[in-house]
Amino acid sequence: MLVDLRSDTVTRPSPAMRQAMASAEVGDDVFGDDPTVNRLQERCAELLGKEAAIFVPSGSMANQTSIRAQTQPGDEVIAHADSHIYHYEAGAPAGLSGCSLRLLAGERGLFTADQVRTAVRPPDSHYPRSALVVVENTHNRGGGTCWSLEAIEAIRGVADEFGLKMHLDGARLMNACIAKGHDSRQYTRFFDTVSMCFSKGLGAPVGSIVASTRQTIQRVHRFRKMFGGGMRQAGILAAAALYALEHNVQRLAEDHANARHLAEAIARMPGVSVDLAAVETNIVYFDVQPGVGTGKSLCDALRPRGVWMIPVAPQRIRAVTHLDVTREGVELAIAALRQTLER
Ligand SMILES: *Cc1c(COP(=O)(O)O)cnc(C)c1O
Repeated sequence: MLVDLRSDTVTRPSPAMRQAMASAEVGDDVFGDDPTVNRLQERCAELLGKEAAIFVPSGSMANQTSIRAQTQPGDEVIAHADSHIYHYEAGAPAGLSGCSLRLLAGERGLFTADQVRTAVRPPDSHYPRSALVVVENTHNRGGGTCWSLEAIEAIRGVADEFGLKMHLDGARLMNACIAKGHDSRQYTRFFDTVSMCFSKGLGAPVGSIVASTRQTIQRVHRFRKMFGGGMRQAGILAAAALYALEHNVQRLAEDHANARHLAEAIARMPGVSVDLAAVETNIVYFDVQPGVGTGKSLCDALRPRGVWMIPVAPQRIRAVTHLDVTREGVELAIAALRQTLER
């Protein structure tokens, strides 16, 4: 058995999901004619409590079209220093929107309304114009952290005071909803735009959604075309996303339980350490003590045993649970890790 814990993007479509894809009704989505894409967009607008939604090829495109639609070149975007839009989207805020980033510090990917208030630029022609705040929930580099509704509400208050827009990078929004027991709209109501991925824990092969007002979605639609993300018979992909929303949301609780089980086992092992309080959803970061080796050497030693994880820093490893990792797989990973460390 191969236990691939590198990321929740490695999931493969199940036979039932493939069946749904194979039988999807399709049309040309650039003309707005794909009935399955239209059904997905309506379903997501409702799920996320917005007027409209648009299907896009990736989470990066969802974030970047949202940024482009709500900023002007020279504007500044306020985000966490560990955010995905900053580290993992190829410099797109600068490259595609001409925006600089104002980066905030904070434990586990979180920041406060006071930090945003301090970061907002005064209206003076020397400064960039503060335009947008981006919140990532769950927070990937933060360790799958969930935001509290109170913290977001306070940030919304500051955003309103200074006329800033707010974007939610909700690549793993459903993980946060399941972990916290919140309805998605309890989170999304604070945001002007919301993105969410189908190709992470939800298990679809491709695709993300942006939800917002009808007017903003029209702008996102234009930038999707400009960025090369217009798709034709995309109903085949939208069918997978619809299937994922139907079948793969509630089961995220299993991934969270598996991540916790893994983290608790790691906490009892020699040579490694994990902050158990930081494991809220499906992502486990743990540290390798230098005496044992490096993150990379430990991952290399696990690989021939059929357990894949990734080193994310010299002494740090990431393991992510998802729908292709069973409890049995987690037990195998635990045994392999323990045996490797005891040697
Ligand atoms: C995965 C991810 C994205 C989108 O990544 P793509 O590879 O472009 O789909 C965006 N934000 C976060 C927090 C992510 O983890």
